Amino acid sequence: MHAKGCSLLLSDVHLSTEAPEITRRFFKFLHSQTSHCQALFILGDLFELWIGDDAPGTLGLEVAVELRQLAGNGISLFFMHGNRDFLIGPDYAAQAGMQLLEDPCIVYFNQQPVLLSHGDAWCTDDVEYQAFRSHRLKPEVRQAFLAQSEAERVAFAKNARDASRQHTQNSAAGIMDVNQAVIQEVFAGSGVDTIIHGHTHRPADHTYHDVRQRLVLGDWYSQASWLEIDTDGIHRHGGVI
Ligand code: MN
Repeated sequence: MHAKGCSLLLSDVHLSTEAPEITRRFFKFLHSQTSHCQALFILGDLFELWIGDDAPGTLGLEVAVELRQLAGNGISLFFMHGNRDFLIGPDYAAQAGMQLLEDPCIVYFNQQPVLLSHGDAWCTDDVEYQAFRSHRLKPEVRQAFLAQSEAERVAFAKNARDASRQHTQNSAAGIMDVNQAVIQEVFAGSGVDTIIHGHTHRPADHTYHDVRQRLVLGDWYSQASWLEIDTDGIHRHGGVI
């Protein structure tokens, strides 16, 4: 796919009914920072929890209205799953006017290929998480989860999130980051010079051998964070908006 003009990329907004200030921040961003661009790429964890397209909740519905409005203004919207909202399906994507992207995928910006990913698959040092990730990606596990009642799914998802938070607190910082050997394999295997991902909440511009770069998106817990790609290159934006 070739993205034309100006594109904005973000991830890890973690929208939640428990944190209305993040929702306000995200909507303000949509209203004030996007009108000059042609495409918005959301690279996962837009929502803190997603239990299925049949139960979007008030927040999910509000977000769909906002995103659809952007799509109506002619901005192309793309969504890639994160580990928190991997259950977003074609129904909600259509409702929000978003096209679903595979993880990873290569998009051409200004004729330059850029590999986009949420990033959690590359955190291979976290063996426990990778085992859980493989488990939840199984179709039968997904179906069994979606067959439960809404209340059961909410309870399960909150438990999983709390266990994940506990696991993060108890684990060495290093295993929560991407594995450098895996990153080198991704560069070598894909042939791209630029990787953009989120998930780790460690926004930074990493350069390898002066030519390759790995740009990490930031989370939206206390400020906005996004990358803009236009004909001049890639620019980091964010802070208080
Ligand atoms: Mn994530």
